[in-house]
Amino acid sequence: MGRAFTYVILGGGVAAGYAALEFTKRGVSQGELCIISEEPVAPYERPALSKGFLLPEARARLPSFHTCVGDNEERLTPKWYKEHGIELVLGTRVKSADVRRKTLLTATGETISYRILLVATGARALKLEEFGVTGSDAENVCYLRDLADANRIFDAMQSCPGGNAIVIGGGYIGMECAASLVINKINVTMVFPEAHCMARLFTPKIASYYEDYYKSKGVTFIKGTVLSSFDIDSDGKVTAVNLRDGSLLPADMVVVGIGIRPNTGLFEGQLTLEKGGIKVNGKLQSSNSSIYAVGDVAAFPVKLFGECRRLEHVDSARRSARHAVAAIMEPEKTGEFDYLPFFYSRVFTMSWQFYGDNVGEVVHYGDFSGSTIGAYWVSKGYLVGSFLEGGTKEEYEAIAKTTRLKPAIEDLGELERQGLGFALTV
Ligand code: FAD
Ligand code: NAD
Repeated sequence: MGRAFTYVILGGGVAAGYAALEFTKRGVSQGELCIISEEPVAPYERPALSKGFLLPEARARLPSFHTCVGDNEERLTPKWYKEHGIELVLGTRVKSADVRRKTLLTATGETISYRILLVATGARALKLEEFGVTGSDAENVCYLRDLADANRIFDAMQSCPGGNAIVIGGGYIGMECAASLVINKINVTMVFPEAHCMARLFTPKIASYYEDYYKSKGVTFIKGTVLSSFDIDSDGKVTAVNLRDGSLLPADMVVVGIGIRPNTGLFEGQLTLEKGGIKVNGKLQSSNSSIYAVGDVAAFPVKLFGECRRLEHVDSARRSARHAVAAIMEPEKTGEFDYLPFFYSRVFTMSWQFYGDNVGEVVHYGDFSGSTIGAYWVSKGYLVGSFLEGGTKEEYEAIAKTTRLKPAIEDLGELERQGLGFALTV
């Protein structure tokens, strides 16, 4: 059996939702577009899973956070897809792709063919097993990538009020989940191998600002070591975590956030890959002209840096998806994707934004015992990155605009003295 569509979006996450909206804005006919997703629900704003979804009260639940609510656009409920004649093939994994024949084979045995394919398969969470630790399948060990994972964390929290959670990993998932666990009155110990949290982005000074805040909320940090094994009881539940430094931590639940791998498997050997993702050009087009890739799975040229990057953030997923659809529907009118990398997070009552690249020398500013701090990164004489915690809308816009302009910086001391004022006057 088989079906044929003009456009197929493979993957039903953030990028898929934004791509669908853009397709309708540019005009697709009834039955021309289909989205195939392994998840059983229509595309939703994944960032909600570590934040509003885990709140003890007024928690976010679908349909309230379907895409594209995060961008103050329309909220695309299943009804919206129906009304726009878009076929949602949910709960369906694609198990192989044949780029020469332009077909996808689903796990249910259906062949779906396309004229143009938009790959938006995102990424999967790395498992502890990939680092030689077993026990990930225990009922109280949680990862966080999709709705099912978020429900599992929620249930685990409910089953151990006032209990102990061990958070493995000091990146985005670790930091955001630790905050949500604390808000749910769970005792949190964070364990990660680096010297400080958020090592991919934060400087030691920025990291210690957040770690001090977390400590004031009762979080314990164990740094420079990793998990070596779990103690598991006869019910198959983890009761304690053993660390490589020899310590043993009693645990009622474990949350693991140790990074991701892009879902490129279907296209290995068929499309050119780079930086672990599908390599695309400035139109988000892969090495096969009928296939575009967007979101976490795509490695695209970032003009501002003059090199190809794969970004794992929601703004990049939203914008790359929209740009790819523009390039598909109106190739003549659509230029190269010119993206300013933008990352953000919200934890407790804190909120930060980062624009650009975190390379070169760093200049910090602000009151590190107060609520507004910031930093600039200066590389080869130019400002290339900006970070701000606790800013206003106007201040965030100012650091974004400044970073985009990439101004020449002659005097780092003067930049430090001006601090946020520099971005506000550029
Ligand atoms: P995804 O949203 O992951 O969607 C991929 C989809 O493809 C999924 O539906 C998956 O099931 C499907 N799929 C994969 N393979 C197949 C297959 N073979 N067959 C069928 N379907 C398939 N970023 C930020 O900038 N700010 C944040 O605050 C933030 N918070 C986050 C919180 C959490 C808990 C997580 C997990 C991520 C967060 N991110 C955040 C990152 C952001 O959500 C991702 O960058 C974004 O979701 C990427 O979108 P995507 O569409 O490329 O991939
Ligand atoms: P990450 O890359 O942010 O952090 C991974 C962390 O894993 C590292 O900081 C390190 O401390 C730890 N680690 C690595 N190897 C380890 C090991 N063997 N044992 C213990 N710890 C180890 O990845 P993540 O936190 O898992 O996040 C997953 C994805 O979700 C990322 O793509 C991230 O961008 C995305 N995300 C983004 C946001 C946001 O932008 N606000 C929020 C949540 C998730």
